[in-house]
Amino acid sequence: MNGANGAMIDTKKIDKEDLFVWLCHIGSQFNSAFLITDPDFPNEPIVFANEKFTEITGYTEQEVLGETNHFLNGKDTCLNTLVQIAESIKNDAIAKVEILHYKKDGTPFWNDLVIQALHNEEQKNIYNIAIFSDITREKQQEAIVLLQQEIYKGIEKGYALSISLQKICDMTETFFPAGAKCSILQIANDETMRIAAAKSLPTEFNEIVHGLSIGTNMGSCGNAAYTKRNVIVDDIQHAECWKDFREITEKHHLKACWSFPVINHENCVIATFGIYFSEKRKAKELELEFIRKVTPLVLLALKNAENQEKILNLAYIDPFSKLTNYNYFLSEFEEMMSDKPSGFLLLIQPSGYTNIVDSYGKKQLASLLSQLSGRIRKLAHKMEIIISRSSEASLIIAGECEEEDIPLCMSRFLQAAKDPIILDGMELFISLRIGVVSLSKYSGSSGDIVRLADIALTRTKLQAGESVVFYEDRFGTEIQEKMAIQNALIYAIKNKEFYVHFQPKVNVQTGLIESFEALARWDSSSLGSVRPDVFIHEAESLGKIQELEIQIIEQVLSWLVRRKAEKLQLFKISVNISTNHFYVPNFVKNLVRMVSDHGIDPKYICLELTESIGLFDLATARKILTDLNKHGFVSSVDDFGKGFSSLSYIHQLPVSEIKIDRSFISNLEEPGAKVIVETIIQLAKSMKMSSVAEGIETEEQLKVLKQLQCPIGQGFYYYKPMSLDEIDAILRAQDY
Ligand code: C2E
Ligand code: CA
Ligand code: CA
Repeated sequence: MNGANGAMIDTKKIDKEDLFVWLCHIGSQFNSAFLITDPDFPNEPIVFANEKFTEITGYTEQEVLGETNHFLNGKDTCLNTLVQIAESIKNDAIAKVEILHYKKDGTPFWNDLVIQALHNEEQKNIYNIAIFSDITREKQQEAIVLLQQEIYKGIEKGYALSISLQKICDMTETFFPAGAKCSILQIANDETMRIAAAKSLPTEFNEIVHGLSIGTNMGSCGNAAYTKRNVIVDDIQHAECWKDFREITEKHHLKACWSFPVINHENCVIATFGIYFSEKRKAKELELEFIRKVTPLVLLALKNAENQEKILNLAYIDPFSKLTNYNYFLSEFEEMMSDKPSGFLLLIQPSGYTNIVDSYGKKQLASLLSQLSGRIRKLAHKMEIIISRSSEASLIIAGECEEEDIPLCMSRFLQAAKDPIILDGMELFISLRIGVVSLSKYSGSSGDIVRLADIALTRTKLQAGESVVFYEDRFGTEIQEKMAIQNALIYAIKNKEFYVHFQPKVNVQTGLIESFEALARWDSSSLGSVRPDVFIHEAESLGKIQELEIQIIEQVLSWLVRRKAEKLQLFKISVNISTNHFYVPNFVKNLVRMVSDHGIDPKYICLELTESIGLFDLATARKILTDLNKHGFVSSVDDFGKGFSSLSYIHQLPVSEIKIDRSFISNLEEPGAKVIVETIIQLAKSMKMSSVAEGIETEEQLKVLKQLQCPIGQGFYYYKPMSLDEIDAILRAQDY
């Protein structure tokens, strides 16, 4: 006995019959299926099969003797593999393949097959032996591992859920060779089924399933989702749960369907995994085992997608309005711009949103934006737009359209505010401001384009109410100028480049100088003379206004100190105080210290505040003003009437003077303006306040003011703001 290894047979010394006996002896001891075929007969019949063969295939030796090797083939046996085997045998090589074969009961199995031709000394092929084993289980394990790798790769690379799920279907279909078609249905919160992957199933069938509710009569999957159990239907035509779908299943030859619920940790069915067959089919244990290993992968893919969505939501969704956010916008916009389209990018903002926040809160502002966004989407009609929340109070929108259609589009978007917005059950009428950039006129990075839209939006604030501003080049130079001013301003504050002009405040009845207003001036070493309203505004936005105003107050105090030293008459000087400065903690304390350091009585200092101070925080404003009064300072409300709202709370503020805004004085010939001025003068009187008419330029204006008994006037008619030297000269001339 040469042992069990067929390769060691010395065929030269044995004749065919001896060899056969010997081979049978060896074959019967083999732990794999062992077949011998005889090429000397037509069709090469099987002449021997061992017990293991019977165990694997279900055929007895008697049943297969005389058959050809091919009888194990079936409908899904790969033809190429068969050709490969034939080629190998022809070339006297060993054929080694993995091939799908069929058992006696029709069950396919993966066969790890080796076929070898044996030759005698004349090189004549005398026998062929086939050795094989059922490697279905190994193949299954291999498939599961591959599938796991695929799913993990999908997670790592961020594949879409549908891709991962379809991979699971594809792989499972190859495992079930008999024309299996897989479907994965997601179960939505409303207990309806959504096709997540089912490429192999007929579209018509999928369309019927999509959106169906789960339930016992809803096919295998609906049933499995409903009962949380595996539902193995081996014959659809006779299954109760399929009775409502007989026609469509028959039409598409769907004969069996096994479905498996995918259950999460909270014991909820989140999906079903279904396998359809085109013939009646009972599930084998090995197949169920396979499915038991696949469903966790479906769960994994779904869970990952859910987490992914949560992460995406965090990155791309504004949590308050539930609108997509600026990051999302940018990524979409960049994609849109890759086609170099014509169209627009705009920022849209409700005017007066700070009031909305004050009255309704930030949550309601978010609700307002989301309502607006919904309306704009509708108004955009068929035009595709990208719309997101870009800041607390604005939406950012990009859309593709012809250049000449942009204005029409803008007026359509303005319509979003035609009907009131409902906040907290209240109707709120708003108007919108739009800053817009034409994409065919301006290019650059998306950040650049947004910046241009932002500049245009800022421009809209120059007009009251609703407005649309298209970005123009000249805005850009203005921005550059603004930045130059800001840079120079920081340097100027350090180097004390600011100085002061005084403008006299005059007794209207006598024409005598009563007091002065100190006005800041700046001759920049780099920019030349800069207008006060410009640099004051920039100093405010840079947070430098406090430092600037302190420098002005210092100069005012020095002037008073000088007059005091020269024993000249002192005058009350008004200094302008920005609202930002007014609310700085220790504002009063600092002021008291400065005044006392110079040895000046606080009554010579009047603080001119704009009427908006009360708008911010009336209670605090009152407290500060009371504190100022206590220390002997006086205060005045500047530009009164400009905002109108101040009429309602001015009586609550302990101020001693009201300055009637210049716009009323310049319109004094209009009866309306005259009535307002008269009312303000009377109002001031009734509250024991003085009133000052600002910006008197003509004799006629003065005449009216005299008639209205306005006590104090200020304006070019009397004096322009002047340097301190000029002021000194005038005072000297008037014997003060
Ligand atoms: P304001 O406080 O209303 O100052 C009065 C402004 O009106 C001054 O402009 C003055 O030159 C101008 N004016 C006076 N009489 C007439 C007139 O008859 N006709 C016309 N058309 N204008 C007249 P100015 O000096 O350009 O100052 C502009 C604004 O800058 C001031 O308005 C004030 O709001 C602000 N400002 C100036 N200095 C300071 C400061 O130290 N602090 C703060 N916060 N603001 C200041
Ligand atoms: Ca003023
Ligand atoms: Ca003023």
